[in-house]
Amino acid sequence: MILASKTGAVEGSSRELADWQQSLRLAYRTQAELLAAVGLGTENFSSAQTNFPILAPREFVNRMEYGNPNDPLLLQVLETEQESQSDIGELDPVGDMASYRGGLLLQKYAHRVLLIASGVCAIHCRYCFRRHFPYAALSRGQEGLHRALVDISSDESIQEVILSGGDPLMLPDKHLKWLVDEIDAISHVQRIRLHTRLPVVIPSRVCDALCDWLKQVRSAVYIVLHVNHANEIDLNVTRAIRLLRSQGVQLLNQAVLLRGVNDSVEAQVELCKQLINLQVIPYYLHLLDPVRNAMHFNVSLPEGLAIIDAMQRELPGYAVPNLVREVCGEKSKVRV
Ligand SMILES: *Cc1c(COP(=O)(O)O)cnc(C)c1O
Ligand code: SF4
Repeated sequence: MILASKTGAVEGSSRELADWQQSLRLAYRTQAELLAAVGLGTENFSSAQTNFPILAPREFVNRMEYGNPNDPLLLQVLETEQESQSDIGELDPVGDMASYRGGLLLQKYAHRVLLIASGVCAIHCRYCFRRHFPYAALSRGQEGLHRALVDISSDESIQEVILSGGDPLMLPDKHLKWLVDEIDAISHVQRIRLHTRLPVVIPSRVCDALCDWLKQVRSAVYIVLHVNHANEIDLNVTRAIRLLRSQGVQLLNQAVLLRGVNDSVEAQVELCKQLINLQVIPYYLHLLDPVRNAMHFNVSLPEGLAIIDAMQRELPGYAVPNLVREVCGEKSKVRV
């Protein structure tokens, strides 16, 4: 709808692209564009000049409050000079490279492996723990995938394959269907999990082609969404979530506890209420990983515990996420 009104010119030149791919092309990629879209001038902001450029699709930006420099969605995507001041923290905060198995596989935990299905995302979250991830250093493309598939099929201890990235739903459905079919054909794989922000960021990603291959998967399918604030859930996101559920997919959510974005009891309770009303189970609330250029989002452990404590008094037990932290070398994420 936005596409038709504002950008007729672009539309005509790329009719072969799916809707969500169009949305991606039209995403805001500079601070000036993004600020203009929400009615803010550039004079109070200066850019951080990091190597992680702004990327914010219009569908997501449309849910921001016009003229509010502290909007919780805006803060997730706006590059600010705080990032260069926040030059402490790690490049690989969660020890990803130590768990590299070769090909495109990481393994930290028993019985499940994480496959880097795509090195790109539909949105650039400023606090991302993989913002410095050396995707280019992995053995990529068909060769990396092939090695991963051989590795998974020769290791019977693997019960679950997690497609992550980046965002696995950045792959076109034809490619994704092929990959999921290959994994699904390995008899000891019992569950396939996708970690994605796309159904929330660009809800039209939940298209017919996606639903068609999803409902044919033999393994149990889990999709872990990433919603940090209730304002991210609009009517189109609601529709996308219902559509995913109707394919027999179990939906979970992970959020990151972020200073200025969702570090209050009210924000967390509202988020979890909206999620469970859509039958999405709040799974994890992550304490920020100590990632370089993002430490200004950090919320301390005692503050996090106090928020969870208050949530337990407001919500049914299944609506309270596990507050977790990733500690390098541990056998699971650490519940705190
Ligand atoms: C977080 C993560 C997982 C998934 O952990 P769960 O506790 O099962 O959600 C798996 N592999 C890696 C490398 C991870 O970082
Ligand atoms: S969608 Fe996930 S992987 Fe991609 S930038 Fe955001 S937090 Fe990072």
